[in-house]
Amino acid sequence: MNPIPYGRQYIDQDDIDAVINTLTSDYLTQGPKVKEFEDRFAEYIGVKYAVAVNNATSGLHLAVLSLGLKEEERVITTPITFAASANCIRYAGGEVWFADIDPDTYLLSLESTKKLIESKPKGFFKGIIPVDFAGLPVDLEAFKALAKEHDLWIIEDACHAPGGYFTDSKGNKQMCGNGNYADIGIFSFHPVKHIACGEGGMITTNSEELYKKLSLLRTHGITKDNMEENHGGWYYEMQELGFNYRLTDIQSALGITQLAKNEAGVKRRNEISNNYKKAFKNKIKHQDLPEGTYNAHHLFIIEVADRKGLYDFLRTHNIFAQIHYIPVHTLPYYKTIGYGHANLDHSENYYSKCISLPMYPSLSNEEQAFVIDKILGYFKA
Ligand SMILES: *Cc1c(COP(=O)(O)O)cnc(C)c1O
Repeated sequence: MNPIPYGRQYIDQDDIDAVINTLTSDYLTQGPKVKEFEDRFAEYIGVKYAVAVNNATSGLHLAVLSLGLKEEERVITTPITFAASANCIRYAGGEVWFADIDPDTYLLSLESTKKLIESKPKGFFKGIIPVDFAGLPVDLEAFKALAKEHDLWIIEDACHAPGGYFTDSKGNKQMCGNGNYADIGIFSFHPVKHIACGEGGMITTNSEELYKKLSLLRTHGITKDNMEENHGGWYYEMQELGFNYRLTDIQSALGITQLAKNEAGVKRRNEISNNYKKAFKNKIKHQDLPEGTYNAHHLFIIEVADRKGLYDFLRTHNIFAQIHYIPVHTLPYYKTIGYGHANLDHSENYYSKCISLPMYPSLSNEEQAFVIDKILGYFKA
């Protein structure tokens, strides 16, 4: 059996052709493919505006800046996420506050977030960054109600969830990142995520004002629109201290063909998930799916007591399971700035048991059967 990783990109001939066509076109960057990718992505998600960026971490950085986060202002996120969900708050000089996860969905707990907010005076927090962890959509309608009550913004870190949705109280499907219950959504196009651009990211919003700010900040704060003066055709103004966080045309061309495959990819991920669930029923705990949600399944996670044993055993069979994630508050950087003693029991208990199994559209049934066989075999032995 070939090595089986926990995730991998799927590239076929039309992806290759799209990149080659762009390489021989007039534009390698800042050409028509960027806008086309943004438009198609916005249409797929059902959101008004999409801003392509060079990776999701840049997207998160611009998101907090465009929402006006300032030094020492406080934002809540989950410890069970990739570090970037929290780091963006630090980039702006803000303070990260962690609330605990729900022990069954592994998502940021609404109750824990509410408790944390209500334990502090009004205005103490500025925003919340919930994460559609593993591809499971957060119930943003509930978070939005809480945010509204306390005058907070929401950035949905949807890096794991293009194509996922939850059903709101009116029975409407709400695609992850569609901005109906969050100010901004963030997606990643790193190859382990659903859509591979090499590196890449997308920011989504329904706010024209945020869209304009995000577009300006993405490209140095430089614009030729709404200028104070105009000295001639060459003239531009730098109106803000921005960055070069642009995505290239080459990457956007790849993003367009990759996006077209996402629907089928998520469907296949759900087949794989159903196979795991059937095999592990009443034997092994896995991420629980609230009713009315469609999991985009970036990951398939189980919890086992002997996690290290299983991880090492699978490696001897060329199965490269992975751990998602080391709780962010326990990483040395966050410990150093004072988070070592945070009281986040569900997150730490989850981390002691979690393991992510192979999950990607091109995983064959035969390969998956091999993985399942090894896991069940390990626990029987
Ligand atoms: C991958 C990931 C990011 C960062 O994405 P990049 O495109 O690699 O910068 C942020 N948040 C989450 C939850 C992620 O999984």
